[in-house]
Amino acid sequence: MQTQDVIRAAIAEFGPSLAVLTSFQREGIVITDMVMQTDASIPILTIDTGRLPTATHRMIHAVEERYGITVERIQPDEAEVSSMVSSHGRNLFYDSVAQRMLCCNVRKVRPLARRMAGVGAYFVGLRREQGGERAGIEEFDRSGPQVKVSPLAGWTAADVERYTRDRDLPVHELYAEGYTSIGCDPCTRAVALGESERAGRWWWEDEANKECGLHFTADGRAERTVDVLLRDVLTRSVAA
Ligand code: SF4
Repeated sequence: MQTQDVIRAAIAEFGPSLAVLTSFQREGIVITDMVMQTDASIPILTIDTGRLPTATHRMIHAVEERYGITVERIQPDEAEVSSMVSSHGRNLFYDSVAQRMLCCNVRKVRPLARRMAGVGAYFVGLRREQGGERAGIEEFDRSGPQVKVSPLAGWTAADVERYTRDRDLPVHELYAEGYTSIGCDPCTRAVALGESERAGRWWWEDEANKECGLHFTADGRAERTVDVLLRDVLTRSVAA
């Protein structure tokens, strides 16, 4: 299916319960541009974790100005963040994989799940060429509670670049500094020549040392370390 056909099919099927979810990397800007040309009423969502680089905030403003829209910033629950930071510190993610997952849960996963409760489907900028788990993606992924729509699934990096140039789209300034994948400021850095596209994310974590994080309770139930940490954070946030 052609890219615009995927977008039109998603609009026909999901109508007002559609959204675009983007972190303003190249692909997300391409998707935003295509969707805005087709139906400018579709909301553009981003997760503002509270730890984004300043350059990402500049990209959000650039997109808002170009399309005359307000990007919806999905934010974490303040009480949950406060509970996590007071228990583990603001930069807890450097201490263990479980603490990094806890931070991603509190700042990204939980706020997104709350916002997505009213969404039927959302556009993302995934491409098969990016490899890993993305190598097998379909245009319509119906495996989750919301349908994930990837109109760029069959695009190459060169396709993205060409479209960006032809449409004179804004480009995140961190690409010029050697970044190839852009997330939260303290968890992302530029990559060296020959490193994989996502090597700059959580670079301090050693693949070989990553544990499954499972342990067993007194009654024999398996629990992940991150689940135990999260339960503690949520208990404190409710009590606060
Ligand atoms: S990427 Fe880093 S700062 Fe952002 S939510 Fe995950 S652990 Fe926290």
